[in-house]
Amino acid sequence: MMLLTKKMIEIRGILQEIASSGAGSSSLTRLQLPSIVVIGSQSSGKSSVLEAIVGHEFLPKGNNMVTRRPIELTLVNSPDAAAEYGEFPALKLGKITDFSQIQRTLTDLNLAIPDSEAVSSDPIRLNIYSPHIPDLTLIDLPGYIQLAAADQPESLKSKISALCDKYIAAPNIILAISAADVDLANSTALRASRRVDPRGERTIGVITKMDLVDPKRALEILQNINYPLQMGYVGVISRIPTSRPSNGLLFRLGSGRESTDIGAVIARNEEGYFESHPEFSRLLEQSSTSLLAPASTLDKEQPASLGVINLRNKLMRTLEKTMAKNLQPTCDAIHQELEETVYQFKVEYNDRPLTAESYLAQSLDAFKLSFKEFASKFGREQVKALLRSELDQRVLDLLAQRYWNRLEESKAVGEPSTAGSIIRAVSDLPNAGNNDVYWLRQLDACVSSLTKSGVGRTSTTLVSNALSGEMEHLLNSGSFKSHPFVKTVIQDATNEILNSRFYSTADQVENCIKPYKYEVEVEDREWSRSREHAFALLKEELRQCEHAYGALQKSVGGNKKLMQVESFVEKHMKGQAKVEEANEVYGFSQALLEKGREGLFLSKRADILRLRMQALKSKQCRSKENKYYCPEIFLDVVADKLTQTAVLFLNVELLSDFYYHLPRELDSRVGHGLSATQIEQFAREDLKVRRHLELQEKKQKLELASEKIEGVIAMQKTRH
Ligand code: GDP
Repeated sequence: MMLLTKKMIEIRGILQEIASSGAGSSSLTRLQLPSIVVIGSQSSGKSSVLEAIVGHEFLPKGNNMVTRRPIELTLVNSPDAAAEYGEFPALKLGKITDFSQIQRTLTDLNLAIPDSEAVSSDPIRLNIYSPHIPDLTLIDLPGYIQLAAADQPESLKSKISALCDKYIAAPNIILAISAADVDLANSTALRASRRVDPRGERTIGVITKMDLVDPKRALEILQNINYPLQMGYVGVISRIPTSRPSNGLLFRLGSGRESTDIGAVIARNEEGYFESHPEFSRLLEQSSTSLLAPASTLDKEQPASLGVINLRNKLMRTLEKTMAKNLQPTCDAIHQELEETVYQFKVEYNDRPLTAESYLAQSLDAFKLSFKEFASKFGREQVKALLRSELDQRVLDLLAQRYWNRLEESKAVGEPSTAGSIIRAVSDLPNAGNNDVYWLRQLDACVSSLTKSGVGRTSTTLVSNALSGEMEHLLNSGSFKSHPFVKTVIQDATNEILNSRFYSTADQVENCIKPYKYEVEVEDREWSRSREHAFALLKEELRQCEHAYGALQKSVGGNKKLMQVESFVEKHMKGQAKVEEANEVYGFSQALLEKGREGLFLSKRADILRLRMQALKSKQCRSKENKYYCPEIFLDVVADKLTQTAVLFLNVELLSDFYYHLPRELDSRVGHGLSATQIEQFAREDLKVRRHLELQEKKQKLELASEKIEGVIAMQKTRH
């Protein structure tokens, strides 16, 4: 007969899973199968009774109101279980065979609720599996307190009653615990149950501490006429006796099985006490021949009975009956919920099935596609352009440093520079002699700076950065954008591939450009191409220069003003000495003078650029023989050669290699490398997918629950 409870507990488990998932709905939380809810004031013996039923000490103990959260206890009779163990389904701690560890975990979970809150309605779920327990669902609630203690908030009492009220509502069965040594009229448990169950139809009264009052008085209490209960009262002595019988830890229960559980110890102790007091003999006879008799021998409810074993049997019978009564309504509710879910799944997802794996595969394919697209767009030409513009910038810097910025010194021809050499201005260049050693050296120095500027490292860094930058962009915009974990996996793979190739690529490139450090041969075709390119470069530089000058004009309030400041700076200010005078006489601020200097610099730079552009157009610069007159062109040729050579190796060593290996790494690290849990987590990181999966699971679970409950109903019908 107890099969029904077992099946219903299974179904209850499924419904709980749905309720605790994201797809749980309010109607589902209401869809509760009946449980036994245990209430009682503090120290009434509530924990002792529960532990006697389970057969183990496992509940938190202590003065500081240790039960702060409801404990939903599911007892599963498992005849084949090798060992007794508990499981916290929400915590994933696995099977816990040590009940003192369960006790510690429960204490920790309770104490995690801060003192200021004192109680929480968030239940702790605990399943206990054992061959010695019946199938039962019991809910332990925070004890009712009479007075809020000094350090507990005033509202605590009402908070606890509100919490208890939620649980003691129908169809739950109330196990109201009161101690025999406290006047029943004052029993908070009975008062609470009376409020919600005035006719006493779903309340079982438990009177603990039967040993603490006179047996006659104890009998009177059990026959409580003030609040008669249809399921009656059970008197127990639930305390674990301090002196245990000396014949070891094994006790023989009525059914003949052996157990080391404390339930048996308690039952023994009770039997001894009740049998030694003749006042109880009538009750003992009525209950059964022995307190240790199996449940099936007790069919009719006694208004009063004795002993934990009787209580346990009564609970089993009552729960079974209540579950049977609730079978059809629960089945109807499951059907209704299922129908709604099926409809929702059709409307929202068009019945499209989805798994975390298929979502991962889809996302990976999409990512690989976008990667392929990028790879087809970022090739040799793009690398070349990237490197070229970097070298162009270097060439411009060298030119400025070695040629253009030396206009000032033109007046000081012959003066030694700080380095001891003689500095000459670029404006002298067109008039220089053909074999002028000064300009010869200038150009050689420039070429040497350029070829020895670490092109291998620079170019490899440029391409590496471009690749990892693009990967980052793909990751942040593509199918993995809301998946931080996979993003890191791919970033790691990217970095590993690029890092492992970095040094060898940089070395190879550096090796191959080595010849240019000694000699650069130029062909006519190269010269004329570079002449055009250098001209375009100067033109762009000029444009930027003019643009900056224009912006400067605007910022000081017009061209006229800028010219005034510029001419002042040029005339009077070689150093800082004249700043004060500038301020007093002309009203030029320090900032304005700075701008004047900048304007002066820009207009001179523009002049030079124009001059050089003219030079590039001149006859002299048409021939490669005149390279010393045209450093812009010659350096451009060098930059071009460096670029061409570097790109050749970068393309093979870095780019193609990366394009070959990354998709393979994606397959092995993301496609096959994630655990089932990681894939599941991955899919749920996407809110849409998560909702889809949750609704689908809800539907599947409801289908399962519906199938099971229909099976139970069919089983019931064949019985009757
Ligand atoms: P709770 O606060 O309601 O959970 O009460 P406990 O189960 O912790 O019991 C409070 C105290 O009463 C403990 O010291 C128990 O040992 C003791 N106790 C519980 N049941 C009995 C009983 O039937 N007889 C006696 N003498 N003491 C009991």
